[in-house]
Amino acid sequence: MVIGSGSGLEVSFEVAERGFSAAVVEEGLFGGTCLNRGCIPSKTLINCADVMKTAQWAEAFGIKARVEAVDWKFIVQRASEEVDADARSIEEGNRQIANILVVKGRRKFAGQKNLEDTIDAVFTREDVERPKPDPEIYLLAAQKFGVAP
Ligand SMILES: Cc1cc2nc3c(=O)[nH]c(=O)nc-3n(C[C@H](O)[C@H](O)[C@H](O)COP(=O)(O)OP(=O)(O)OC[C@H]3O[C@@H](n4cnc5c(N)ncnc54)[C@H](O)[C@@H]3O)c2cc1C
Repeated sequence: MVIGSGSGLEVSFEVAERGFSAAVVEEGLFGGTCLNRGCIPSKTLINCADVMKTAQWAEAFGIKARVEAVDWKFIVQRASEEVDADARSIEEGNRQIANILVVKGRRKFAGQKNLEDTIDAVFTREDVERPKPDPEIYLLAAQKFGVAP
C-alpha cells in the first residue's frame, strides 16, 4: 500500500513487476509535486526564459532577433496543459495494470498496518471485481510527512 503517487510510484511499479499486488492512494493529481507543481512546470517556465534570453543575446552570434512581447497567459497554459495531460496519462497507466489498485482520496495511518479510513468506501464498480488488498507493507511517499512509520 503506497500513499502518494510521486516517488511512491517507483515502489508500486517495482512491486507489481515482481508479481505482487499494490494499492496506490492519491488525494490529488498523479505524479506528485515534481510533475504537477515542482520540477517539470518550473523547468518548462525556465525554458521559456532561456528562449527569451537566447533571442536577446542573438546579436552576439551575428543573428538579429528581437523579443516583442511575452505571452504569459500562453506560457502558463502550455505548462499546465502538459503536466495535466501527463498526470492523467500516469493515472490511466496505473489503472491499466492488473495488480495495481488506484484509490483516490486522502488516507492516513491510524496505527501499524491500519489506515484511518476503510479503502472499501472508495472502490469503484470495476474495482469490486478485483481482489481487495490485504497489505503486508505500507509506505507513505509524501515529502511533507517525512518517513513512513
Ligand atoms: C518548484 C519546485 C521545483 C523542484 N525542482 C526539482 C528538481 O529540479 N529536481 C528535483 O530532484 N527535485 C525538485 N523538486 C523537489 C521534488 O518535487 C520533490 O523532492 C519530490 O516531488 C518529492 O517526492 P515525494 O514523492 O516525496 O512527494 P510528492 O511528490 O509531494 O508526492 C506526494 C504525493 O502524495 C499525495 N499525498 C500526500 N499525503 C497524502 C494522503 N494523506 N493521502 C493521499 N495522498 C496523499 C500528494 O497529493 C502527492 O501527490 C522541486 C520542488 C519544487 C516545489
